[in-house]
Amino acid sequence: PPPPPPPPPPPPLFFSTQNTAYEILSGLVGSEMCIRDRYDDIPVETSGRDVPEPITSFVDLDLGAAVNTNIKRCKFKNPTPVQKYAIPASLAGRDLMACAQTGSGKTAAFCFPIIAGILKRGLQGGHMNRKTYPLALVLSPTRELASQIHEESRKFAYQTGVASCVIYGGAPAVEQFRAMERGCDILVATPGRLIDLIDRAKISLSRVQYLALDEADRMLDMGFEPQIRQIVDERDMPRCGERQTMLFSATFPREIQRMASDFLDDYVFLTVGRVGSSHALITQSVERVTSYHEKSNMLLDLVEAVPGLTLVFVETKRGADQLEDFLYQNGKPATSIHGDRTQQEREAALKSFRAGKTPILVATDVAARGLDIPHVTHVINFDLPSDIDDYTHRIGRTGRAGKKGRATALFLESKDGQMARPLTELMSEANQEVPTWLTQISGHSFGGGGPVSYTHLTLPTKTIV
Ligand code: AMP
Repeated sequence: PPPPPPPPPPPPLFFSTQNTAYEILSGLVGSEMCIRDRYDDIPVETSGRDVPEPITSFVDLDLGAAVNTNIKRCKFKNPTPVQKYAIPASLAGRDLMACAQTGSGKTAAFCFPIIAGILKRGLQGGHMNRKTYPLALVLSPTRELASQIHEESRKFAYQTGVASCVIYGGAPAVEQFRAMERGCDILVATPGRLIDLIDRAKISLSRVQYLALDEADRMLDMGFEPQIRQIVDERDMPRCGERQTMLFSATFPREIQRMASDFLDDYVFLTVGRVGSSHALITQSVERVTSYHEKSNMLLDLVEAVPGLTLVFVETKRGADQLEDFLYQNGKPATSIHGDRTQQEREAALKSFRAGKTPILVATDVAARGLDIPHVTHVINFDLPSDIDDYTHRIGRTGRAGKKGRATALFLESKDGQMARPLTELMSEANQEVPTWLTQISGHSFGGGGPVSYTHLTLPTKTIV
């Protein structure tokens, strides 16, 4: 008799058999009821012409059999709020501007329509004459976020024939070329390395049909606007209207509004509240300090104050190194991530933090941005940022998934004076106890708190027509 057919190959290891980060983050582990409750909590606002109807289930979508199987493999039961609106809009061919945070499921929101679109339209990318022609380009501010997006897109495109590649600076270009030669339909890139490789004639954007910009506000904060404009306008990418563009940003400041009107055509606008996190769940406190020495000593107690993972924000790379060393010398298991760390070092640090081996992570804003860091119980602003939006982003790392979180800021009056007022306002808005000295410094006294905001987003001032 003929031998029995071989068993189907097991899915690759990147499909975790454990709960997904999203499920853990948003408390979705368990009952359907819990899922519905959590989703109902999250506000979504839309504007634009003829916004396509949101979906309520992945079953409502025509993403193709292979992608549907991958959604099951990823254990995604229901679309997240951003996915409910963004996926049907993109599948309908619309450009999109979405205000959504990391943890909202935005990667899948742009990857699913890209993969489905490539498959449905039978698009051909490829590699010819030592040049790579991606069909979709995803721009990301940092290498960590780029790798994270690449890993996600590989999962979503598994066994579809759609290949994803990632390129970023600080890693040997040779390996990145090799990976692109093996196939590159979706290219995830940081701006600097991408321009370098376009200008070295290794990549052409002439076949790009999908452009996604992730964490656009952070790319602008990091000074990438000239590079982004070069990539979009001054190389060989199809023009606005000839490609489909999706712009994701946590906030919507004026520069992003300008970018949206330059890069997007007849777009759908949506804002989504932070998933499973609201400042209502975060207990904020501010400690007044007079010197660096006092700050460091206080930190030794603070890192012990709350069980679980503690994230400590500092201003500079040097400050991160110093503080990690100081904590280590004092017997506190700490690690750090910042812009001078190699890719391997950052990944190792994050892994050890996630696993709780080194439950204290010292980070600069830039390095921490965009990372899917679960289960932080305490955010310490060792150095206060100079912008209240950064403060909001930082403390939003805790208080997720309906779990309580704590945020402690060390306020050095000689340096942080200008933060007194915005901090007082933000804290009173969230019904937090504001120390009298802080109110005095800010020169204002505030009464009881107003409504708690889910997001700290600036909504668009005009309706898009
Ligand atoms: P992101 O906002 O793209 O960084 O996604 C955050 C996390 O949520 C990632 O670990 C995703 O794999 C996960 N995720 C995305 N969409 C869903 C979904 N519909 N259901 C469950 N988990 C999801």
